[in-house]
Amino acid sequence: MQIIEIYKSLQGESSYAGLPCVFVRLAGCNLRCAWCDSEYTFKGGSRMTQEQVEAEVDRLLPNKGLVEVTGGEPMLQEREVVPLMQSLVDAGYSVLLETSGERPLTNVPEQVVKIVDVKCPDSGEGGTFLPGNLSALTERDELKFVIASRRDYEFARDFVLEVASGQRASSIFSPAFRKDATGSRGVEHCLVDPRDLAEWILADNLNVRLGFQIHKFIWEPSLKGV
Ligand code: SF4
Repeated sequence: MQIIEIYKSLQGESSYAGLPCVFVRLAGCNLRCAWCDSEYTFKGGSRMTQEQVEAEVDRLLPNKGLVEVTGGEPMLQEREVVPLMQSLVDAGYSVLLETSGERPLTNVPEQVVKIVDVKCPDSGEGGTFLPGNLSALTERDELKFVIASRRDYEFARDFVLEVASGQRASSIFSPAFRKDATGSRGVEHCLVDPRDLAEWILADNLNVRLGFQIHKFIWEPSLKGV
């Protein structure tokens, strides 16, 4: 499979946020989100076999733990990434898959936690989520909405209340971070004020989690491999 990088950091954008995690970042993406901070994944990378990826994960996490398969869009390499995820599960790792949900998720091993980043309108990729993927989600999975405006918030709210009502997956609303942010590590780089987002969630009585890309607040925002 085509790999951009494999590295250890803290998981930053889900209910697993804050836990040590090895990231397996695959190359290639078929979307072009306006606030994407991973454009370096669109091209390049190196061919690695499943055994080579597993050996690197084992080197970085000798006592097992959390592994996130991400990108780019990892499900573009479904034929290779599905057996990799199953093998990591079988070896005793807890495996997360970060995906836009634009590709079918029915073949993802059931033990893998799917973190599905449903694109909101301001990303420029709204409407790309494949509705049929809702039936592939379980109570372990998470729907994530990266929000850059009130319009995005209303899209996410209506999605949770109408499209995904009755869904067992939990939901996270996360302020989008400016992709050109550098220097300071504060909320001034968020495209929507977290306080506004918190107050909208509370005013609408939504049962969703407010999330942050915590790595942006720990390390220099433009740093890769964290
Ligand atoms: S899906 Fe992810 S990697 Fe692809 S353009 Fe959007 S934010 Fe970037």
